[in-house]
Amino acid sequence: MKPRTARRTHGFTESVIRGMTRLANEHGAINLAQGFPNFPAPGALKEAAARAVNDDINQYAITWGAQRLRRALARKYADWYGMQVDPEANITVTCGSTEAMAAVLLAVVNPGDEVVVFEPFYENYGPDAILCDAKPVFVRLAPDGPLDLDAIAAACSSRTRAIIVNTPNNPTGRVLTRAELEGLAELCRKHDAYAITDEIYEHIYYEGEHIPMATLPGMADRTITVSGASKTFSVTGWRVGTIIAPADLSVAIRKVHDFLTVGAPAPLQEAIAVGMETLPRSYYTSLSSEYRVRRDMLHAGLVGAGFTCSPPQGAYYILADFSALSDLPDDEFAFWLTKEIGVAAVPGSSFFNDPAGGKNLVRFAFCKTEPILVEAVKRLAAVRSVATR
Ligand code: GLN
Repeated sequence: MKPRTARRTHGFTESVIRGMTRLANEHGAINLAQGFPNFPAPGALKEAAARAVNDDINQYAITWGAQRLRRALARKYADWYGMQVDPEANITVTCGSTEAMAAVLLAVVNPGDEVVVFEPFYENYGPDAILCDAKPVFVRLAPDGPLDLDAIAAACSSRTRAIIVNTPNNPTGRVLTRAELEGLAELCRKHDAYAITDEIYEHIYYEGEHIPMATLPGMADRTITVSGASKTFSVTGWRVGTIIAPADLSVAIRKVHDFLTVGAPAPLQEAIAVGMETLPRSYYTSLSSEYRVRRDMLHAGLVGAGFTCSPPQGAYYILADFSALSDLPDDEFAFWLTKEIGVAAVPGSSFFNDPAGGKNLVRFAFCKTEPILVEAVKRLAAVRSVATR
């Protein structure tokens, strides 16, 4: 009998992160697993979305994305980063940065090409590479340390088509420095490879600054910049992602995007454009400063409860080592934490190709209101007294 499913689906599982949300819901646990905010989106965006629906912006936006949003994005990249982005030639708006990343890889990677992915990684990159019949090449990096450019160089070869660069990083929180980005840019140039960047947390950082790879000398032509509205505007369910790419690559990316999804929701694209046009700079600085308070609260709570972890430089996750508390493997520990302690986290193994890399780790998200974090910390304080070794 023929196998009922395609081989390309055999090399990966459904998202562990989203699986933990289902488990959290089943057990009424506080969900610090999947990274989505529990607080409202900015009023300006919500009003603009309602207005857009009432004004009947209810049919397809054009494939590349609504013109108003592309123009707002071009202005944003110029104002924030000094990037020259042509809204007609360089931008594609997608259904979240998840579609963006998949569409980009499908558009630029050939079967058999190698794609360099740093571990720990955000769980999409491996499956995205597999969906293109490419070979992900994993490079294990210390979550806290400086980027090990020698290890990355050793993973690159003439077969390398792209290096995926996620800064600020999920799950480690690292914000790459200019020198680190320059090291990666050098490798891209040497191997004639693309930098495919995931910059979805570009406005959420506590140390350093966010530097888009595309702004480094000579890199605009070999960088594809993925970002989106989800994290910046606390609208993860709106599914609006963005791609900035050189014109020739955008032609290919738009073809893939067109036949995958046609386009992201038109009224929501409109609303995000309004948000980008009207929200002041202080909105973005408050976003980071409010997240810093939440970060410090959860970090102190985790350390107090017996976890080992450092405060992240950016994004909204803490990767915590629980080996002082339990000998359970990471997935069992995360299930136990959800069911018995009432706090859901993501098992560390889902950020590693070799699950052993994450066997003592769990990831907590702190994109929650303070009362929720206070309650989570209170529950986590009980881990030490009930954890079995
Ligand atoms: N990026 C978020 C996380 O890492 C959400 C993942 C998702 O469900 N797309 O938790």
